[in-house]
Amino acid sequence: MSEQTTYSASSQRYDKYDSIYQRCGKSGVLLPKVSLGMWHNFGGNDSYERSRDVLHYAFDHGITHFDLANNYGPPYGTAEITFGKIMDQDFRPYRDEMFISTKAGYDMWPGPYGNFGSRKYLLASLDQSLKRMRLDYVDLFYSHRYDPLTPEEETLQALVDAVCSGKALYVGISNWPLEPLKRAEKYLREHDVPLLIYQGKLNMLDREPIESGILEFCCESGVGFIAFSPLAQGLLTDRYLHGIPADSRMAQEKFLRSSRLTPEMLEYIRTLAKDAVAAGRTTAQQALAWVLQQQGVTSVLVGASSVGQLADNISVMDCI
Ligand code: NDP
Repeated sequence: MSEQTTYSASSQRYDKYDSIYQRCGKSGVLLPKVSLGMWHNFGGNDSYERSRDVLHYAFDHGITHFDLANNYGPPYGTAEITFGKIMDQDFRPYRDEMFISTKAGYDMWPGPYGNFGSRKYLLASLDQSLKRMRLDYVDLFYSHRYDPLTPEEETLQALVDAVCSGKALYVGISNWPLEPLKRAEKYLREHDVPLLIYQGKLNMLDREPIESGILEFCCESGVGFIAFSPLAQGLLTDRYLHGIPADSRMAQEKFLRSSRLTPEMLEYIRTLAKDAVAAGRTTAQQALAWVLQQQGVTSVLVGASSVGQLADNISVMDCI
């Protein structure tokens, strides 16, 4: 049942059209240079009102791409549930203005069919994600990781069939090594479901997609590239310059550990902060600008635990 409220999207959301959108590889799709990821801060343990405020702020400022995965939360699945609720309450009239992705590949439910890259897992997971998000289809469905024990063709054909069944419009690959990525690009092209985008970790501290040749391959083959954790989960901002805030990701000691905050790292961040001032940017914007300036990068996929952080990150589009 619909729970519509009085949310009405800002009439100015496309005022900066030319500086916000960028073509995704050689596809017909334009994506915002800054996209919003829902890995953290949108789960069942987070404030629903704050999640909603951040999503509204994003869409009101032209951020049309929202990235999810089956197991985002915690608990698993609850980021999609939050998104589904907001879809029903506020976003339904704008569905066609949004580009929504989800993924399957990591552990989601117990037993042999809730993890990795089998057809059984991917297609069941997609059905579950659609129910949680209260959607008929996603714009983009990803294989979330490479599974060396499942035949690549099985995983890739499941992606093709997700599109053929109308449950996804495009497909993506995340965290696959270069050689399997090359084979995936070929397989998907030959099955008339071209690979839209590759999602990989890229930030000033972690340049693996550049060093491995993945970014170059995407660029040459017309595949878009979206960079996750472009702020190194918050390290490349002012967040940890004066200690570890109690409400920060690092304070949870799970995905971002305090052992990363070495004296050398702090020195690196201080230098970044100084360079940012000289460039007329905030520290976060300086780090995001570096990623966006790499040839072949379509979008940076940021996280945000507040509207203020998102506002800071989005404004990088005004200063690159
Ligand atoms: P970021 O590197 O952008 O880190 C986000 C965190 O940094 C925020 O939660 C916040 O930390 C802090 N932060 C963000 N902006 C600011 C700011 N302006 N000033 C100070 N601190 C700031 O990205 P994530 O690691 O969150 O990843 C982004 C998205 O990428 C995910 O949501 C997901 O969609 C995708 N992803 C995909 C993966 C994959 O395997 N394909 C893996 C990981 C992420 P705090 O919460 O402490 O306030």
